Amino acid sequence: MSVKVVGRIRPLLRQELDKDVILTTAPTASDPSGPSKVVRIPNPKNDAEQYSFQFNSVYGSEATQQDLFDSEVAPTVKHLFKGFDVTLFAYGVTGTGKTHTMRGGKTLADRGVIPRLLSAVYRRARKIEKDASSSTKVEVAMSYYEIYNDRVYDLFEAPEKRTLAGLPIRDNGGKSVVVGLTERPCSTLKDFEALYDQANMNRSTSATKLNAHSSRSHAILCVKIIQISEDRTLVSRASAIDLAGSEDNRRTENNKDRMVESASINKSLFVLAQCVEAISKKQSRIPYRESKMTRILSLGQNDGITVMILNLAPVRSYHLDTLSSLNFANRTK
Ligand code: ADP
Ligand code: MG
Repeated sequence: MSVKVVGRIRPLLRQELDKDVILTTAPTASDPSGPSKVVRIPNPKNDAEQYSFQFNSVYGSEATQQDLFDSEVAPTVKHLFKGFDVTLFAYGVTGTGKTHTMRGGKTLADRGVIPRLLSAVYRRARKIEKDASSSTKVEVAMSYYEIYNDRVYDLFEAPEKRTLAGLPIRDNGGKSVVVGLTERPCSTLKDFEALYDQANMNRSTSATKLNAHSSRSHAILCVKIIQISEDRTLVSRASAIDLAGSEDNRRTENNKDRMVESASINKSLFVLAQCVEAISKKQSRIPYRESKMTRILSLGQNDGITVMILNLAPVRSYHLDTLSSLNFANRTK
């Protein structure tokens, strides 16, 4: 099991052009044209003092969707086809680019890591199936759900059909499964995109219905890759998680619903950090059972790869939240 932490600083938005940029990166001496590894942020109480954080890589605002995908996610595809799981997280404050990074925009150049990953998966699957020396068939299926207030909601289920209690989780042969979760076969990229768009639409409708913005739920896409040959069946999973916003809601909002949401977000992000830390320190005990999300993902229970993308906004208005994001990611090293 391995973990990589990748920082990504988004560009200034149009309405931020006059804002004060506080994050800086430094080029890597051994590869000045590649991503940086260091990000600096001033002490909120004293601008002259800079804190420095080091990660596996740090992408500045000039980095494209393709740059990020090619260097950080494309290399995981071969592991998937060897039968290992790949888990991608986008962590950060609301408005820092998590959804942009994972799902992306509508144009080809704007596509995020999820459609790009699927595109690479289908390309490889077709190549394997064409290989005359084997008769391997590749099947792909997806499930997509969100965790809101520690409850699991199927994003293939129309919001009006959902029960507030959500779907139960049961242990099944050492693995935790969500009972009743829809799994849809998707044999082509077109199939996948249609299902993904449909489920994302359900996500926004349910957010309105529950009076909750999608920034307060974790969206978890799970793609199962099944390679069937004469002598064996190899199953692996690619999971991509657009996490709930990591902002400290206690600072801005204090009504009761928000407090309940914040407590549940804080707890699941806390457990996530503990799991990622335990994995990266190669500890034998990974507390994945302590939150629903890490339990369903069986985080760290197989020999897979985890990439944590830390989304960051460069401007001062995010100062305290950015500092806590950086501290969060720093603890997981
Ligand atoms: P989050 O999901 O973390 O709340 P979003 O992905 O919605 O954040 O991003 C907030 C805004 O910033 C959106 O308008 C988005 O299009 C824009 N944005 C984020 N990252 C980038 C980027 N790398 N390049 C261009 N625009 C970006
Ligand atoms: Mg978002």
